[in-house]
Amino acid sequence: RVRTRFAPSPTGFIHLGNIRSALYPWAFARSTGGDFILRIEDTDVERSTQAAVDVILEGLDWLGMAPDEGPFYQMQRMDRYREVLGQLKASGHVYPCYMSVQELDALREQQMANKEKPRYNGLWRPESGKSLPDVPLGVQPVLRFRNPQGGVVAWDDKVKGRIEIRNEELDDLVIARPDGTPTYNFCVVVDDIDMEITHVIRGDDHVNNTPRQINIFLALGAQPPVYAHLPTVLNEQGEKMSKRNGAKPVTQYRDEGYLADAMINYLARLGWSHGDDEIFTRQQFIDWFSLDHLGRSAAQFDEAKLRWVNAQHIKSMDDDALAKLVAEQLVKRNAAQLDLAPLVALCALFKDRCDTTVALADWAERLLGEEVEGAEQERAQYLTDAVAPALDALAQALDECVWDRPAIAAAIKKTLADHGMKMPQLAMPVRVLVAGTAQTPSVDALLELLGREKVVARLKKR
Ligand code: GLU
Repeated sequence: RVRTRFAPSPTGFIHLGNIRSALYPWAFARSTGGDFILRIEDTDVERSTQAAVDVILEGLDWLGMAPDEGPFYQMQRMDRYREVLGQLKASGHVYPCYMSVQELDALREQQMANKEKPRYNGLWRPESGKSLPDVPLGVQPVLRFRNPQGGVVAWDDKVKGRIEIRNEELDDLVIARPDGTPTYNFCVVVDDIDMEITHVIRGDDHVNNTPRQINIFLALGAQPPVYAHLPTVLNEQGEKMSKRNGAKPVTQYRDEGYLADAMINYLARLGWSHGDDEIFTRQQFIDWFSLDHLGRSAAQFDEAKLRWVNAQHIKSMDDDALAKLVAEQLVKRNAAQLDLAPLVALCALFKDRCDTTVALADWAERLLGEEVEGAEQERAQYLTDAVAPALDALAQALDECVWDRPAIAAAIKKTLADHGMKMPQLAMPVRVLVAGTAQTPSVDALLELLGREKVVARLKKR
């Protein structure tokens, strides 16, 4: 059974680049009938915050990517890490190292001066026939992992292909600090073993950790998972998307009126493809997803493209479901309580011209609210004295007719005939009066949506 995970560090608000690293393991689990696990890597106590955890949970929930298991928190698993550390000690895979920070710095400087790669020199690594330095008094040692010497660590990365690292290049990693707290690479391995992760799909900023993690897996007698290291997501300036250079928290896109399915569609294409398909549903993505079609090069975020994808999803979305999302936007603005029925009609009429639910909510506020503010320039242009009699006549006719689209259309047509006018001569001022703008869909549909009372009042109030 496939088991994948998303393992964010809550040291800042997760952004679209992070979410893309969650999307593929989620889709892989969904497409294989497996499990998707959420693990919060909160061991950096100084920089981790509850607010950042909340954005992770809220974001995944919004996108419909809630985990099957978790969230697990690393800080709650410390006892377990200590226990496994004990196992490694017992099997001779770790040893205490008393080298001080000053000594390490001096070693590094010397290596750099000799143009060597800085690395721990194995001074405290016990070997048969080798004598170790005297243990300094009152110093708490770190624990180092006894990395194998000789041979290679290799894996078939699902994105990058075969990777082989010579063990010579890896020094003995610190896996517990002087106070006994375990370090990052060790915790990840214990978790991936305990959580029975079969596929690790993560950003390629972790690719250098992988050979070290594989060696720890092997020392624990465990089978390493399959790895897929995803290329970076760049922001619109071409830099790596990061919490530090202004990437928006994922939940902000919800607030800006993006649909969860559009986000999934857009993010899916940032590093994966299915032929030339640009627009697809969540279910199609799951059905089509495979690790074999992950891209190898960095992908660049493009907000205009995201808006376009969102517009396509809005267009094809069911009006009732869309109206509920628009209502949520209106609630956030403290708009007067609005019935769903007019919002459904509004969505049907306006969804072709709106690329976010925020834009739909703007229309709802403007059309269905109490007051409509006309654009001054358009008022001056269209509300001439010459059209006044026709507007009065139309208001009168609409006050008396049956309220449906054919009757409204007939009232307009009759007014045009009676006053010898062409459609735009009347329709433009009507739009400006009832909607506050001349840029609207067909006028009979618009009037039907607004309702008799508002239409007549607005036509009279010039
Ligand atoms: N916590 C790591 C991060 O936020 C991910 C670690 C992993 O996926 O192995 O980048």
